Amino acid sequence: NAKRTPLIAGNWKLNNTHLEAIRLVQQIAFSLTDDDFEAAEIAVLPPFTSLRSVQTLVEGDKLKIGYGAQDISPHESGAYTGEISGPMLAKLGCSYALAGHSERREHHGEDDATVNAKVKAAFASDITPILCLGEGLDVRKAGNQVAHTVAQLDGALSEVPEEQARRLVVAYEPVWAIGTGEVATPDDAQEVCAALRERLGELYSAETAQQTRILYGGSVKSDNIAGIMAKSDVDGALVGGASLKADEFVKLARFRE
Ligand code: PEP
Repeated sequence: NAKRTPLIAGNWKLNNTHLEAIRLVQQIAFSLTDDDFEAAEIAVLPPFTSLRSVQTLVEGDKLKIGYGAQDISPHESGAYTGEISGPMLAKLGCSYALAGHSERREHHGEDDATVNAKVKAAFASDITPILCLGEGLDVRKAGNQVAHTVAQLDGALSEVPEEQARRLVVAYEPVWAIGTGEVATPDDAQEVCAALRERLGELYSAETAQQTRILYGGSVKSDNIAGIMAKSDVDGALVGGASLKADEFVKLARFRE
């Protein structure tokens, strides 16, 4: 996977006020060196309420850290109380937006059609969706993780044209591994990431499949990231809990060491 720039993205979930966000982004960005930013792209995904502060900090200090949102409305504007749209996120300088995180699927009833609409909304605003996919424990126990996750990919990319899909980031996040401390083995991660890449090749082209970054997420920590990143179809990590401490996230960004 030498051709694909690794991406280490921190999903802060429902954590940190905007003042805490400023401090954490400063700690991370000032600890990382130019070499670190050469070796991998590093991004944080704070709550919506912190994005303006993060933008001011990143633009003002010309920090190399990227950032984005944890969700995006499928709608551009209108009577959708509480929603945040792609144009709003683009104006805040967001490079990324998660789409279809398992916690959104579980607690907010997001199905493949909703996730598909969110992926399209992100692309329409030139934001790269980080499309989250992954099976629950029952599906894993039945050995159906590949079919399940590939079907989620198909649903999320319905009618997404190749010129957009080329910029997609996919995150394979087995639900049983998220926030549980139970990390998938490197081989488990590789199996599904390889299948997702193969499917991208069928949906689009070998070229698009080869250039798409596919991340693994689920209890990634500094002491287990190296084995996962060593797999040929794993191009980065989406990190929840371990992204909330600056020193641990910096270690994750230096996963090669
Ligand atoms: C996530 O929220 O995407 C995630 C992978 O969480 P954790 O690292 O805490 O398992």
